[in-house]
Amino acid sequence: MENIVKPKLSFKNTKLSVVVPCYNEEEVLPETNSRLLELMKEMQELGLVSQDSFIYYVDDGSKDKTWELISKFNQQHACIRGIKLSRNRGHQNALIAGLFNADGEAIVSIDADLQDDIQVIKEMIYKFNEGCEIVYGVRSSRETDSFFKRVTAQLYYKLLKTMGVDIIYNHADYRLMSKRVIDCLKDFNEVNLFLRGIIPQLGFNTATVYYERGERFAGESKYPLSKMLALAADGVTSFSVVPLRMITWIGLGVSLASLAMVVWIFVAKFALEATIPGWASTVLPIYFIGGIQLLSIGILGEYLSKVYMETKQRPRFFIEEIR
Ligand code: UDP
Ligand code: MG
Repeated sequence: MENIVKPKLSFKNTKLSVVVPCYNEEEVLPETNSRLLELMKEMQELGLVSQDSFIYYVDDGSKDKTWELISKFNQQHACIRGIKLSRNRGHQNALIAGLFNADGEAIVSIDADLQDDIQVIKEMIYKFNEGCEIVYGVRSSRETDSFFKRVTAQLYYKLLKTMGVDIIYNHADYRLMSKRVIDCLKDFNEVNLFLRGIIPQLGFNTATVYYERGERFAGESKYPLSKMLALAADGVTSFSVVPLRMITWIGLGVSLASLAMVVWIFVAKFALEATIPGWASTVLPIYFIGGIQLLSIGILGEYLSKVYMETKQRPRFFIEEIR
């Protein structure tokens, strides 16, 4: 994972695009925008990024004043562009809409809520100028998260790892990608594109930069538990067939166990001459196997629904307006 150190040519005037997906973010956007503009100016003065660098805000079908704000920023500053999706399509799709429409040699994606330290973008560009095409922003601690989110996140990363899914620990969608990497992403036709799982599969020179993740600047999380679970399930079923294989193993295990039980019954009946006691030994396996069957059908259903959705090849989003 560590980057390959190449001769340092850090001041290269990289043409940068910053992509910010926004869903009902009127409370944070003014602050986000002024901080990003300030950073952009600073980086331009340093000669780190070019004068034709852009910030792209993607309005993911917000119901509040988000698009009005973006339009206003666009009128006030030449370096700001807005993309309005026709309705809410979720964080990943909004992000993809921005990434696929942004130009620039290097493209950074970041959340609107200022949880990710924007100063790290400078380090990302240094790495990019050293020859890295993907730079992951990784949070060095999870202290600002609730206990529940910490534990579930940890379990989830472990689960993915055991299922053979290569995913960067403690990295969300804060990263820099080169234009070439974005072009590679365009070749993935699956409708449900889980970026965190796909990008490590692309290869290229990669690097990691660390930062402290803060609290949301304002407003509420737009990722309730239901959306988090959906994203988690997508992450597993898009990359791993281990759950399907597990059904076979569990089935095999249960069958072997019941065979062992037959042997035990014979021993109990003829050698020990103990009669088989009560209904527990009859009813318990019924519930147990019933449960396993339902679970297995559920897992099959998950994958089947995935096949169903993917065969439709429906478009991921529609753009209503670009500014
Ligand atoms: N977001 C989006 N569409 C959605 C939900 C979220 O574009 O349907 C954006 C949101 O505006 C933010 C980013 O995705 O910029 C991450 O969301 P949030 O900060 O609420 O998630 P959390 O940090 O709580 O996981
Ligand atoms: Mg957030």
